[in-house]
Amino acid sequence: MQIDHLRQRLRALGAKPLHEQRVLRDWIQGQPHDQGRRRAEDFLPLPVRVALPALDLELRGMLKLLSTHPGADGSARLLVGLHDGQTVESVLLPRDGLCVSSQVGCAVGCQFCMTGRDGLIRQVTSGEIVAQVVLARTLRPVKKVVFMGMGEPAHNLNNVMEAIELLGTEGNIGHKNLVFSTVGDPRAFERLPQGRVKPALALSLHTTKPVLREQLLPRAPRLSPRELVDFGESYARLTGYPVQYQWTLMEGVNDGEDEMDGIVELLKGKYAVLNMIPYNTIADLPFKRPSWEKARAIAAALHARGVLTKLRDSAGQDVEGGCGQLRAREAKGKVI
Ligand code: SF4
Repeated sequence: MQIDHLRQRLRALGAKPLHEQRVLRDWIQGQPHDQGRRRAEDFLPLPVRVALPALDLELRGMLKLLSTHPGADGSARLLVGLHDGQTVESVLLPRDGLCVSSQVGCAVGCQFCMTGRDGLIRQVTSGEIVAQVVLARTLRPVKKVVFMGMGEPAHNLNNVMEAIELLGTEGNIGHKNLVFSTVGDPRAFERLPQGRVKPALALSLHTTKPVLREQLLPRAPRLSPRELVDFGESYARLTGYPVQYQWTLMEGVNDGEDEMDGIVELLKGKYAVLNMIPYNTIADLPFKRPSWEKARAIAAALHARGVLTKLRDSAGQDVEGGCGQLRAREAKGKVI
């Protein structure tokens, strides 16, 4: 279901913008069913009131929680079933965050990612994106939503922007707590500054070497690391919040002195945070995780050279951390 179709259906029943807003808000903010209905009944037009119980069921039935995999760090990976039998992953993050998926599969094909291996299977609709937040809110509060799960948000731009606008207006989530994460795509760069809700931006950098980046992210748009940072900087100045550059640290691939020099050259003095995430080794893929000590030394050295660097672990490291792995296991019939 697209949010826009839902709005059209409500309008066809006689709902005015205020009614529409109320119904959507009750859904996203997870109002207890009875309470929401009782309050809404005070002022909704009769045809909307009559349609609400069935609509409620439809909205709540859009996704199904198939399994929950809590991690030691307070996160939990959720395997979520869609109406057509496809599955995606959402991750409950520590401090009331949620990582959502924007596509089933992904066309970018990053060499180190499980999701990219099957290519794109289908887009996740705007309704299904918001429904991941609604589902997570039945488990715990959600005050931050990052689009870093399965899929490339820039390849599903209309649905993602529609979900972001709704979450930022009726979902009680601050705009800078909505994080659009992309490998970099000119279409997204054009669209984001025009949005009514301007999310924070995370850019997957991973290397400062254009040729290596093309190898690691084979079907990402051909933008050089410098072009990415140029866009990131102008967006950061426009919105007033720093851009998060993502760096998946892989042993012997992008953890050398040459890369560190490149990072300093690219990011020093920029309105930016570098999130360095040691790679989570996946059995079927050839990349390796560097030791935590080495990662810490790299992050400290970059920090000392003037690049605000945060060393992070991917959430749920101990429970098939790394997007796409739960889904891949489920496809092999191994998730219980
Ligand atoms: Fe797609 Fe992200 Fe995986 Fe790359 S890392 S293939 S962009 S899901």
